[in-house]
Amino acid sequence: MRRFRDEPARTLFAGLVAHVMAPLGGFATGAIGLVFALAAHARGWPVARGGSQSISDALAAHLLDLGGSVHTDYEVKRLDDLPPARAYVFDTSPTALARIAGFGDHYAGYRYGPGVFKIDYALDGPVPWTAKEARAAGTVQIGADRAEIGRALRAASREGRAPDKPFLITVQPSVVDPTRAPAGKHVFWAYGHVPHGWTGDLTDAVERQLERFAPGFRDRVLARATAGPPELAARNANYVGGDIASGAVSGLQLLLRPKPTLFPYTTPTRPSSSAPRRPRRAPVCTACRGTTRRRPSGSD
Ligand SMILES: Cc1cc2nc3c(=O)[nH]c(=O)nc-3n(C[C@H](O)[C@H](O)[C@H](O)COP(=O)(O)OP(=O)(O)OC[C@H]3O[C@@H](n4cnc5c(N)ncnc54)[C@H](O)[C@@H]3O)c2cc1C
Repeated sequence: MRRFRDEPARTLFAGLVAHVMAPLGGFATGAIGLVFALAAHARGWPVARGGSQSISDALAAHLLDLGGSVHTDYEVKRLDDLPPARAYVFDTSPTALARIAGFGDHYAGYRYGPGVFKIDYALDGPVPWTAKEARAAGTVQIGADRAEIGRALRAASREGRAPDKPFLITVQPSVVDPTRAPAGKHVFWAYGHVPHGWTGDLTDAVERQLERFAPGFRDRVLARATAGPPELAARNANYVGGDIASGAVSGLQLLLRPKPTLFPYTTPTRPSSSAPRRPRRAPVCTACRGTTRRRPSGSD
């Protein structure tokens, strides 16, 4: 960030880094900001036509074509809830995997980060951004300058309080996808960072920020639905304490998740018992948050 001379460039980059939900200047977080910048240069930041549900629908349809099946509305609480299989891939947080698979305190050192407070809006018209570029963008980051963004991140991740001027990530899908709202109306969402497990209401602070950069925004609101950390965690168990990244992005945990070892994805091969057993290598899956292999029945 220090390499940029102009404040607008520094502010833009600070906003990109802020996606990682950690204080600016943290270990290697600039690399993640660069990834966001490169993706924006290469392709922009696309939204799925029809909404993100269409991605899940397409993946599920492909799986069905391949002969697979999908079961929903069922919480897996123990390995025994699953049919016998050679290997299991868990798309859960590491601590949930430990609970389900009986790995005891194998991931006890795993840390979760700050949460978010999200508001979904139905609007009577487009967001009245002062900046004309923002009116055509799918994603708009809200922060006056690098210092303000830095203060917001510190408040949520270090000081245990909600920021007065939250840094916001906002998306206005109906600007680029008219199927998302009736003619002339728009859908829009915004989230700001709050401390882990925070139970307050950030609506007023979020809308004060939006009014700064889009005066008259509140007059366009037809309906809003808010969700803080408890609501987000209730919707998706992976958002522990409202942490939508499922784990703090700080220190070694940025590089070595879920455990700081040479083989971070290795899981114990059997549930823990009173006598601790030595973890052995299990199949590695880089695209998921936890994997484990079930013992063949009858084996020790
Ligand atoms: C507003 C918002 C914006 C985001 N923006 C970005 C972004 O720009 N880039 C990015 O990379 N990420 C972003 N994220 C994070 C995003 O949610 C994850 O990156 C993404 O959803 C991970 O997808 P996934 O399929 O791996 O896991 P998930 O979407 O978490 O899917 C896992 C599923 O497993 C279910 N589940 C969990 N535990 C159990 C259980 N015990 N039994 C049965 N089912 C269970 C959950 O309910 C969930 O449906 C954002 C999140 C939010 C909320």
